[in-house]
Amino acid sequence: MADILVYALHYEGAINKNSLGAVSEGARLASELGGECHAIVVGGDDLTDDLAGSLGAHGATKVFRAKAPEGLAQPVVDAMAKVIADNGHGYALFGGGLLGFEVGAGLAARLGAGVAMEVTAVNVADGKLVAERPILGDSAISEINFRSDVGIIIGRLNAFEAKNADPAHPGGSATVEDVDVELSPQAQQATMVNRGEQRGADVDIEGADVLVAGGRGLGKAEGFELVEELAKAFGGNSAVAATRAVVDAGWYPYAAQIGQTGKTVSPKLYLAAGISGAIQHKVGMQSAENIVAINKDANAPIFEFSDLGIVGDLNKIVPKLTEAIKAKKG
Ligand SMILES: Cc1cc2nc3c(=O)[nH]c(=O)nc-3n(C[C@H](O)[C@H](O)[C@H](O)COP(=O)(O)OP(=O)(O)OC[C@H]3O[C@@H](n4cnc5c(N)ncnc54)[C@H](O)[C@@H]3O)c2cc1C
Repeated sequence: MADILVYALHYEGAINKNSLGAVSEGARLASELGGECHAIVVGGDDLTDDLAGSLGAHGATKVFRAKAPEGLAQPVVDAMAKVIADNGHGYALFGGGLLGFEVGAGLAARLGAGVAMEVTAVNVADGKLVAERPILGDSAISEINFRSDVGIIIGRLNAFEAKNADPAHPGGSATVEDVDVELSPQAQQATMVNRGEQRGADVDIEGADVLVAGGRGLGKAEGFELVEELAKAFGGNSAVAATRAVVDAGWYPYAAQIGQTGKTVSPKLYLAAGISGAIQHKVGMQSAENIVAINKDANAPIFEFSDLGIVGDLNKIVPKLTEAIKAKKG
């Protein structure tokens, strides 16, 4: 079957950006396959006709709306498995994000379907979808074909760009169809107590022009004051980012994490302080226009892909840099 079902995650009355990208990508692929792109939203009374229907603007022709807890994987697996069984979709597509990974994996197990994760591009060949996934530290691309009746494709964060399906009619709407889902026993084991979004000082690191990123070399959570001061000195559209090592250690919020399991950024300037440059970090920031690294180890891998490398103790260099930028700005 040539139809594609896309999971659209939503929070506080807005559809997630990566989900919008997945719907746009699903619409493009479905039209090449000669099918339709459908979306599925899961939630409660907050899922208005307007919110669900708005996915039409990104190319969904129909939106299935299931009343079940949003933000937990198993209820979404139940809802998607039912919609796919009833409608015969050939593919399920997810934007990047941890919930998509969990739902996609659960759905694959439920349907006995093939799954491709961390996908960066999808093509059509011989009337079927072929997913591209970087392998070997992003140095090569593998092509994944599906033998199962349903193929499950989970994008890497920011892999699919949200586009307006018809710029002439930006408000486009889709048919909304309510689906009754009987939750499986495992879907009733967990309850959503609270849903929230963690932000790093309420800044959007994906949209920042200048990112000052801190790693384990900062030594402790308080070390982030140094990089915060530097970001403040740059002013304008600048923000602080972090490695996974430090967010896992609780030194900085997860929302600031860059890399394979964090965010992908492409600022004009990326300044790394005390970051080794592990491949999982590199994949999230390698497309920055200018990369500057401060590291006391001259052999740190980050210097291999930096435009400017400063070998030395960040505790001495960062405050001096901050002063110099402040002085230059007057
Ligand atoms: C499946 C998987 C997914 C992952 N996803 C991510 C991800 O999304 N993002 C991510 O960042 N990581 C990710 N990681 C972790 C990654 O492999 C590295 O462990 C992590 O990026 C290292 O963080 P770091 O550079 O802060 O710390 P370290 O590797 O410990 O580097 C600290 C650096 O600071 C330098 N330093 C120490 N003191 C000073 C000083 N005083 N002055 C200057 N320099 C100093 C050291 O020389 C060193 O190079 C992932 C790992 C796995 C297995």
